[in-house]
Amino acid sequence: MAHESAGMVIILGDGLGDRPEADLDGLTPAEAANTPNLDRLAAEGISGMMDPIRPGVPAGSDTAHLSILGYDPYQTYTGRGPFEALGIGMEVRRGDICFRCNFATVDDQFNVVDRRAGRIDSGTHELAQALDGMKVGDVTCVFKESVEHRAALILRGPDLGPAVGDADPHEEGARVLAVEGSDAAGERTAQAVNDFVCRSHEILEDHPVNEARRKAGKPPANIVLPRGAGVAPHLESFEDKYGFTGACIVEVGLIKGLGRYLEMEVVDVPGATGSRETDEGALADAVLAALGRHPFVLCNMKAPDLSGHDGNPKAKAEDIEKLDRLVQRVVEGLREPACLAVTGDHSTPCSVQDHSGDPVPIVMWGPGVRTDAVKAFGERPAQTGGLGRIRGHDVMSILTSLTARQEKFGA
Ligand code: ZN
Ligand code: ZN
Repeated sequence: MAHESAGMVIILGDGLGDRPEADLDGLTPAEAANTPNLDRLAAEGISGMMDPIRPGVPAGSDTAHLSILGYDPYQTYTGRGPFEALGIGMEVRRGDICFRCNFATVDDQFNVVDRRAGRIDSGTHELAQALDGMKVGDVTCVFKESVEHRAALILRGPDLGPAVGDADPHEEGARVLAVEGSDAAGERTAQAVNDFVCRSHEILEDHPVNEARRKAGKPPANIVLPRGAGVAPHLESFEDKYGFTGACIVEVGLIKGLGRYLEMEVVDVPGATGSRETDEGALADAVLAALGRHPFVLCNMKAPDLSGHDGNPKAKAEDIEKLDRLVQRVVEGLREPACLAVTGDHSTPCSVQDHSGDPVPIVMWGPGVRTDAVKAFGERPAQTGGLGRIRGHDVMSILTSLTARQEKFGA
């Protein structure tokens, strides 16, 4: 029986995958956590291990989400610039050239005195507004501050390209670099970057924020240094790719930006703080509401990644119990049948305190899903499951197949 009307939900615990921990009697956080609802899904559904990109590749949250949504990150990921800009809520258009930037301090010979302008932590919004919208030739410069000394720059105009170097010399005492391009489009872009950097110095040098900083004995943020150019990729929208719409209920700015770029509905959920104290019930309710509007919903809860980076396995097990309550509320609140996939976007083992290339456990559950002998959620049980070992880009393929949204391939 086909389940053409069934919805599809992917619920990700960010950085969920882990390794055995002595503090947890040799279990992983997912194995040690008390997760009756995830265990029920495992018992009724099918489990396996997933490599977000490919075995052994430590995925970033951005590339992992691209892959899990069915986009090949090797074809579509052109550097952090565009995703950095998306992540701080900038509107990025296809073909834009995006840079990560620092507010920095230079002397009047353009030698870098402080690459981070004394780790400036206030006034950057005013400084950014003085630069945002600048025109250099036929190029528009869109500029926005991020946290502390960080910011992002978008160059928008005809015939630009990402083949340009950095203005940031990456060391103090060195002179700001004159950016060069390595092809014709890159040279046009380099010209615009150099003009932007010079003008940023002219405009910021005597800005009231910097006058105040000098009075307080702090280094002025009197220049912007762009680096890491990337072109906003020509990604198909989610709806064009799949023929149905989707929503993102996600806690990571970078992934909200990605969702907007894919023209998905991105829902801001009050109470979803992206911290360990986030309101999982509010996230679950937002998932259920979005399922009334779209066949597909992606949900990401950030907490397990935070505890992984902190190296705190007991906290991470608690985060996974929070994920279990989120899943419970979704499953109990479903008004129509839906196929669920619960997994992580990558592993952030507490013993590594960073992302690793380990696969993550995944469970799929819903009408038509075959079952296997697995009765619990976690790395060890999932390794014996019927899904075997899949990759991130297989998830959408399996979900669309289970919900009869795929055409037959062949006669
Ligand atoms: Zn992540
Ligand atoms: Zn992380």
